[in-house]
Amino acid sequence: MPIKTNDPNKKTWIPVPANSDFPIQNIPFGVFLTRDDVITIGTRIGNHAIDLGALHQLGYFKDIPLTDDIFLQDTLNDFISDGQKTWRLVRNRISEIFDTDNASLRDNEEHKKVVLFTMEEIEMQLPVQIGDYTDFYSSKEHATNVGTMFRDPNNALLPNWLHIPVGYHGRSSSIVTSGTPVRRPMGQTMPAGAETPVFGPSKLVDFELEMAFITTDANVLGEPIPVDEAEDYIFGMVLFNDWSARDIQKWEYVPLGPFLAKNFASSISPWIVTMDALQPFKVESPEQEPKPLPYLLQEEGNKSYDIHLEVDILPENSTPTTVTKSNFKYMYWTMSQQLAHHTINGCNVNSGDMMGSGTISGPTPDSYGSMLELSWGGKQEVKLNDGATRKFIEDNDTVIIKGYCLNDNIRIGFGEVSTKLLPVYQPKKKQ
Ligand code: CA
Repeated sequence: MPIKTNDPNKKTWIPVPANSDFPIQNIPFGVFLTRDDVITIGTRIGNHAIDLGALHQLGYFKDIPLTDDIFLQDTLNDFISDGQKTWRLVRNRISEIFDTDNASLRDNEEHKKVVLFTMEEIEMQLPVQIGDYTDFYSSKEHATNVGTMFRDPNNALLPNWLHIPVGYHGRSSSIVTSGTPVRRPMGQTMPAGAETPVFGPSKLVDFELEMAFITTDANVLGEPIPVDEAEDYIFGMVLFNDWSARDIQKWEYVPLGPFLAKNFASSISPWIVTMDALQPFKVESPEQEPKPLPYLLQEEGNKSYDIHLEVDILPENSTPTTVTKSNFKYMYWTMSQQLAHHTINGCNVNSGDMMGSGTISGPTPDSYGSMLELSWGGKQEVKLNDGATRKFIEDNDTVIIKGYCLNDNIRIGFGEVSTKLLPVYQPKKKQ
């Protein structure tokens, strides 16, 4: 089925500002609360949110096989379960409805009143109920930097790294959407030179610049997903800030890996950009040497995506500073390899499961994906525009991750994930 939505010449009757992340070629999916306090599934063009539940009730999807309430839900899980063919039919139809030459909705003021919202009139929600969240560690530059800092610069990568898309099972309950503040965690750390651990606020709270992909029901228990089919089961991607407490992490992570240093919060951007929308931005992924084992070996061709990423730090009552610029294309292991590896033992994945890429660092110091690397373990200060400096994230700083794709014809983007770090929780005093 052709992806008609991706036609770069397509124009819409909805106003789209220059450099918008959301032209008619994007058509992402999200969940929002409307001005009438109704939760609905929607999409976005320019600065307008579109209520897909209302559009469906008005008959605009009538010849697509969809249940009546498919968009009248507070998560996208059921729609994602319907599979790639349905996602494609719905995106193609949305782009027809909003095509500049299509008068059906364009000239129907009554319908437009119930379908269209400005972004100020709505409140974005978490787009899926995330059943399981897995985090990979798939940037060679990031793994090399961390290995160099904490172990041995001559053997920065552990022996398994070039053979396995290394990952761990994370925690989905603490994943929040953009705009939801998170708290600095308390925890146990072992300060340098100390002989016994101490308890208190983490002193080294960090962001991790990541992206995450969201799957559909892909396989039944016991049956792996072949690497060359894996991407058919990926619905789309979001920006992902995997908040990390480096001092807690350093003390707790041996031998079973990250635990409380990572599960206090992770933040995602609210609009899921579909894999279909990203097709024009496919690029080669880094060459893999040694060659992966056959179950991870992909057919020739472009397997990664050219997605520009940047992180801003915004101190309270100040202006933002871009502290790093990276790109998803630097990832050593592809999403297909991650998903094939995840399921090679028969582990099943479900609709709404989320897989983090791992911190996405580029080859140069201005493209590192965490403060841990930008400050090189706290040895260097990162300068901000207002004259302040940071080694890690301070209370009331807001961290903003943005991401977009750009070619000669179009730009599509992810918007942003913006999260304020609040001070540690103070228990309320008893009266
Ligand atoms: Ca991570």
